Amino acid sequence: MEPCDGRRNWTSASSPAKTAGMTATPAWPPRSAPRLFVDQPLNEGGSLRIEGNQAHYLLNVMRLTEGAAVKLFDDISGEYLGRVGARGKRDLMIEIEGLTRPREAVPDFWLCAAPIKKARFDFLAEKACELGVARFVPVLTDRAVVDKVKDDRLRGTMIEAAEQCERTALPEIAPLTRLDALLKAWPEGRHLFFADERLHDGSGGSLAAKLAAHLGPAGVLIGPEGGFTDAENAAIRAHPAAVPVSLGPRILRAETAAITATAVWMAANGDWST
Ligand code: SAM
Repeated sequence: MEPCDGRRNWTSASSPAKTAGMTATPAWPPRSAPRLFVDQPLNEGGSLRIEGNQAHYLLNVMRLTEGAAVKLFDDISGEYLGRVGARGKRDLMIEIEGLTRPREAVPDFWLCAAPIKKARFDFLAEKACELGVARFVPVLTDRAVVDKVKDDRLRGTMIEAAEQCERTALPEIAPLTRLDALLKAWPEGRHLFFADERLHDGSGGSLAAKLAAHLGPAGVLIGPEGGFTDAENAAIRAHPAAVPVSLGPRILRAETAAITATAVWMAANGDWST
């Protein structure tokens, strides 16, 4: 199994001798093989060249030798077992042996959240991927402290999270979207759970209670550190898909609110029970 925290910066070999020994395991597919996303379609019997950071990770961090197992997924067809073939100094070939898992069905849940400070938003993106969201939408609101989002950075964070948590499908990352545009384009038939911090006095009913009455495709909307303005609150509430919900009696940090709402939805309507 991949270490859960150790290899993200790909700079140090945790235990190379042990890693090299893993190649001898007879189990198929090997559970200990490194797992990487590759941005190209994979197919059984094919081969591909790995370069750059990924090659550095496999060659110098994991110190894989010829024949070592590697798991690859492409976000298109699924996850495959591959074996290290010819190795160069800065690149290596992987021979694809077979499909280990088809691309998963992703629960139809969108996490729409106002950007917050970089480290916290990265953390949120990572957790959103681990928890199983289908789509991550950064939403620009009036009280935004942060009004720019680096899509590439978010994608990198989500790819690392997907590699680690064994997702075979990456979450879609939407461009930064103004709140009014989000509401205007909100699809018919998709519930919009509005995490309204003004309901923390208990007046609105809990998210868990509301979920049972609102099954099907959904998204949750989380505000920035400063919360939503009165005008925004009114506009969201006026939307036909809006379901205002409380996340309990305490005011949560934005990232805590987003993770909590996602977890509660996933537990009730997602794929956690399958
Ligand atoms: N500055 C706001 C205040 O003091 O009321 C708090 C904003 S909170 C840090 C950020 C976002 O998390 C809110 O806009 C809301 O979407 C969500 N949130 C936090 N606690 C919540 C709660 N108890 N119920 C519903 N939503 C909550």
